[in-house]
Amino acid sequence: MSLTNNGAARVAIVGAGIGGSALAALMQGLGYTVTVYEQAERFMRVGAGIHLSPNLMRVMRRLDLHRQVLVSGQEPAGFLNRDAYDGDMLYALELGEAAHRQFGAPFVALRRGDLHAALMSAVAPNTVQWGKRLAGLDWRGETIELSFEDGTRAHADIVIGADGLRSRVRSALCGFEQPTFSGQVAFRGSYQRALLGGLRVDDLTKWWGDETFVLSYWLDHARQDFYFAAMMPQSEWPTEASSMPGDLDEMRARFADFHPDVRHMLARAPQGSVTKWALFERPARFEFGNSRVLLIGDACHPMRPFMSQGAAMALEDVATLIRALMGAGDFGSAFATFAATRAERLGEVHRVSSANTFMRGPTQPEWVFGYDALTAHPSARLPA
Ligand code: FAD
Repeated sequence: MSLTNNGAARVAIVGAGIGGSALAALMQGLGYTVTVYEQAERFMRVGAGIHLSPNLMRVMRRLDLHRQVLVSGQEPAGFLNRDAYDGDMLYALELGEAAHRQFGAPFVALRRGDLHAALMSAVAPNTVQWGKRLAGLDWRGETIELSFEDGTRAHADIVIGADGLRSRVRSALCGFEQPTFSGQVAFRGSYQRALLGGLRVDDLTKWWGDETFVLSYWLDHARQDFYFAAMMPQSEWPTEASSMPGDLDEMRARFADFHPDVRHMLARAPQGSVTKWALFERPARFEFGNSRVLLIGDACHPMRPFMSQGAAMALEDVATLIRALMGAGDFGSAFATFAATRAERLGEVHRVSSANTFMRGPTQPEWVFGYDALTAHPSARLPA
């Protein structure tokens, strides 16, 4: 499909999450006609906390949304990495103004719902068709037919699968295959500062245990809304659902050997404020799609969230795709450039996320935080 009259191509994006909403906004800025099909009935502020590392914030700047998230979120003064048991500092990365200087963009932590709301605000009105859960794709000559679970159909020339971990676009391309339970679970909770009872809490700390860790940070500019995620191995996940209510006694028992500050943070979590999440993944053999259908974000490369780079990888995908579209003569070659540019980077972030070693000791974090998807080339150097 030629790009010479890009406004005429019918582009369907499946999923209005982090990647789908950002892609819709940027493609509309280039003059594309885009429709987004989202299974949810309406916009929902789901999820708890999320890191916007500088590599992600560069894309937010391209979307002109960087100021919006800086107003709602907090810029941590540093990213502290401590031994979980005695609290010894393993590695401290200075952030705040230093992040601007070192990585060319800020580091922000905030509520996931605030990030999503900012992204949705950049999408033109009436772009998203809500309540459209994709069932499958059918190739009908030059046209791709999308069928939805409500019995309706739509037609497009190009389909971008931004439909997350259990992507139906991916199933249509590669056959159905469940993502794998990683053997890791996370307790995630948030509560108000007053409940901490005067405990001094740094802006952003990862407490490293042997097979476990606890990450804690503030979700808002005023540092009133406290968040933690406590990760641990678990042999099985007993249900189809991704999450369940968290058992506070189980959580506190599992982290009972952690530093007293961490035990205090977990002890103060009120009943009902904690959920337990299964962490799913797929192997790092990326299926990007073909010349008409492309996968981005978790639909393509779900990974363990141990580097907090899931959303960043989705937005790097978006920036790379936009650049590829601007430089190519047709969608097929833009998609090929996209895949060639992303494969190595995604493989490396996937590998280091799985190993859970990033910043456990002295680290050169430039390769993650300093990456600029708006200029990076397929040959961009990665660490050994
Ligand atoms: P998503 O943002 O998950 O968006 C996928 C969208 O597709 C959703 O809106 C979904 O409703 C829609 N969809 C799914 N199936 C269909 C279908 N069949 N038809 C139509 N629409 C469909 N990462 C971090 O780095 N740090 C965090 O703290 C963190 N917290 C998270 C909290 C939650 C609740 C979730 C869901 C994810 C979290 N992640 C976090 C992961 C990170 O958000 C993802 O890596 C990132 O959202 C990937 O973006 P995406 O656009 O690929 O997928």
